[in-house]
Amino acid sequence: MEKPAKGMSLLVVEAGTPGYVKGRRLKKIGMHAQDTAELSFEDCRVPVKNLLGQEGQGFIYLMQKLQPERLVCAVAAQAAARRALEHTIQYCHERECFGRQIAKFQNTRFKLVEMMTQIEVSQSFVDRLVLEHAAGKDVTTETCMAKFWCTEMLKKVVDECLQFFGGYGYMLEYPIAKAYIDARVQTIFAGTTEIMKEVIARRTGI
Ligand SMILES: Cc1cc2nc3c(=O)[nH]c(=O)nc-3n(C[C@H](O)[C@H](O)[C@H](O)COP(=O)(O)OP(=O)(O)OC[C@H]3O[C@@H](n4cnc5c(N)ncnc54)[C@H](O)[C@@H]3O)c2cc1C
Repeated sequence: MEKPAKGMSLLVVEAGTPGYVKGRRLKKIGMHAQDTAELSFEDCRVPVKNLLGQEGQGFIYLMQKLQPERLVCAVAAQAAARRALEHTIQYCHERECFGRQIAKFQNTRFKLVEMMTQIEVSQSFVDRLVLEHAAGKDVTTETCMAKFWCTEMLKKVVDECLQFFGGYGYMLEYPIAKAYIDARVQTIFAGTTEIMKEVIARRTGI
């Protein structure tokens, strides 16, 4: 095919269409509230009226929606990092070791302040992009930056937060453990960190 991007169309396939099979539910390490399953389409025929939009424009439609999806990932990672930190600060004031709250140790205070600063700095960037996107500005490059930056930041923040919970942090009954496993996929889905960097490099002519 000469122009593969032009050869893709979006079709609505109704449940129950012969050849459309919902496969096994995949077992993920996190995000258990969200099911992820294999779907297969074999000799599946759908009526012409099930074409979504125009023929041959499927790839363009998908590309157009990638940016809002990546911006949502950045916003969600930002919010998750903030929540994990708030939760950890509270715990550091409750937990006592050697007769002192762990929040009173200099290492704890410095780490918490470092994370607080990272979160505040990236919040300004994300807020700016949300406003610019809502105003119709093309923020594709910056959105890729925010997607990789915020999701990598989230991974680092939840890892450092979990450390303050000691052994409890490794127990699934503690929300920080769930935050840790749920964070892992954020740098993978909606475009990996490496692909975000590739897109940025290409768009900026590096
Ligand atoms: C829980 C979950 C939910 C998902 N939900 C959806 C969904 O709703 N819709 C959807 O369409 N997809 C979804 N995905 C798929 C997801 O978007 C892909 O897994 C992701 O984009 C990575 O693609 P891949 O798995 O094919 O990895 P690969 O492309 O095989 O990449 C493997 C590794 O190679 C690296 N790599 C690849 N190419 C390059 C390159 N050019 N330069 C440098 N490094 C490179 C990648 O960064 C990665 O580290 C989901 C995935 C998961 C895990």
